Amino acid sequence: MRPQTIRYHDHKIYHKAASVNAAGHVSALCFKRPRAIDRARASWTLVDKLVTCPKCLAVLAQAKLNTYRCGQCGKIVKRESTKRWIKSYCDATGKNARLMLQDY
Ligand SMILES: [Zn+2]
Ligand SMILES: [Zn+2]
Repeated sequence: MRPQTIRYHDHKIYHKAASVNAAGHVSALCFKRPRAIDRARASWTLVDKLVTCPKCLAVLAQAKLNTYRCGQCGKIVKRESTKRWIKSYCDATGKNARLMLQDY
């Protein structure tokens, strides 16, 4: 049986580079603990829009969301904003509400 030729470069995923260790190995944003990216299977980029790793993309998307609390009912929601508060409408009380940025 002949070994199958696998062209890894066709399947390479691009992680978001997160940190570099003393040896110059780059770790990915989606790794729980920093370790060198296996360059035979994956690569890395510093440019968000070039990232193809679904886990890195999820981390990036989450990082853009801030936690807000509804001033009317206290419900916690995620919004893509950095404002201290956002004008909103509370479905629970049927009143206009402010979503207050939570610091944690
Ligand atoms: Zn990744
Ligand atoms: Zn509410």
